[in-house]
Amino acid sequence: MAESLPLQAITFDLDDTLWDNHGVMVATETGHYAWLDRELSGWLQARGRPAAPRFSERFPLESFEQHRRVLARTHPLHRGDFTWLRERALTEMLGEYGLDPASARLWAGAAMERFMELRHQVTPYPEVEPLLTELGRHYRLASITNGNVAVQRLALGRHFPVAIAAGEMLAPKPDPRPFLAALARLGASPARTLHVGDSWREDVEPARRLGMRVAWISPHVDDSPMPPGIHRLDHVRELPALLRQLGLARHH
Ligand SMILES: [Mg+2]
Repeated sequence: MAESLPLQAITFDLDDTLWDNHGVMVATETGHYAWLDRELSGWLQARGRPAAPRFSERFPLESFEQHRRVLARTHPLHRGDFTWLRERALTEMLGEYGLDPASARLWAGAAMERFMELRHQVTPYPEVEPLLTELGRHYRLASITNGNVAVQRLALGRHFPVAIAAGEMLAPKPDPRPFLAALARLGASPARTLHVGDSWREDVEPARRLGMRVAWISPHVDDSPMPPGIHRLDHVRELPALLRQLGLARHH
């Protein structure tokens, strides 16, 4: 019954839905930290200050991660705001390393700029650009991410009139608020909106609870039947076939 209502809108998760996020995260994580270590060491030497041990010796990458975990526990409101957690952790570690508060803030900010540059070097799957171009002709599109990619910085950002950064809203998925914000800004009802995402917990469950239909991107595991309203796809490229199969494709 609800399945026959024509779709008005489609919302998309980003990381691991429109691109493979693992490689870019590894490159970003190691890349910005190495940049900070190198630039900071040069800066200290130029000021005649000891740069030994180096920052990355005093604080290996694992201790940075540990520092962020502690901050997330002690500042639960910010637990999903990864950008805030990173910058705050870096500022504190640089302070412990011996920088005065102003320099610590400056270097943490510079490292985060480098982080964001690297973080946005994502490579969407080749099918994504033509897919969004076609879908954008028939449906209103939104992105909803917990990650810190600002989709408007990417070429494919132009396909998303609505882009929700759930972590920065301090309400990361599975909180329903980022979905509700997207629906309100799209002017779409949940029953006539399809959410596309790879995480069962952060995409499928919350969208389904709101009455949205869901395409779950999950590489083939088995063919167990899905609950009503949930459709499993191996890859986002299979979305047009799903829309046709469900009779949801807009004919033109
Ligand atoms: Mg994802």
